[in-house]
Amino acid sequence: MIDAERRAALDTIGAEVAVCTRCRLSQTRTKAVPGEGTEATEVILVGEGPGFNEDRQGRPFVGQAGALLTELLGSVGWTREEVFITNVVKCRPPENRDPEPDEIAACAPFLSRQLAALDPALVVTLGRFSMARFNPGARIGQVHGTYRAADPESGAPVALTYAMYHPAAALHQGSLKATLFRDMEGVPTALLEARKTRAELNQAPPPEPAATAPGAAADATTTQTIAQLPAEPASAIPGEPDGHTAESDPTDQLGLF
Ligand code: URA
Repeated sequence: MIDAERRAALDTIGAEVAVCTRCRLSQTRTKAVPGEGTEATEVILVGEGPGFNEDRQGRPFVGQAGALLTELLGSVGWTREEVFITNVVKCRPPENRDPEPDEIAACAPFLSRQLAALDPALVVTLGRFSMARFNPGARIGQVHGTYRAADPESGAPVALTYAMYHPAAALHQGSLKATLFRDMEGVPTALLEARKTRAELNQAPPPEPAATAPGAAADATTTQTIAQLPAEPASAIPGEPDGHTAESDPTDQLGLF
């Protein structure tokens, strides 16, 4: 698909989401929130569902959690304009409650179609509802800060998924903020690894490095835009495909994350 076709597909999905009545969330929403960002991206970030501010504005991650997400992206030299940001459910659950399984199921085809249109190399999941879509059965306390292949049933044709806590979690539990920033440091390297995987699978040629000085190491630094990342991944990869943290991570028990 060329970018214009991706844009057209995303706009069509957005128009359908705006008038969707597939589940009860449509009855209480102010505005549906299809998602936003560039069609010319390798990276999609998927949150849980719109909150109060998102419901008012019809845009994802524009409240406090959104400000933190923008900061997190900035910490590795990325911007919102370089990625696509959306949610598992496109309408606000009342009082910000968890989305119900039938609401998630009703909304699932929209995310599947967004994934098909974008064909991202990397899906960054924000919180456990998003993680469950791409890695069913994973536990966020164990897998945050690591990447693995996305379940193809998720709708992402060939992607790695990188699990992060939901930014809102850090607003409730301050100690998670440092974890979020630490985990974010691994995202550029996960993208490099995803590019490599896709190149190996012959799904897409690795993009040309945009601005790498001759002889510069093929590494992900924390200050390169997506386009500036070198084509080859670093030799030391912080993300491990098989999880790394202790089983007893207490945050597993907290609903929000
Ligand atoms: N939380 C989410 O999961 N998504 C948003 O868009 C905003 C807050």
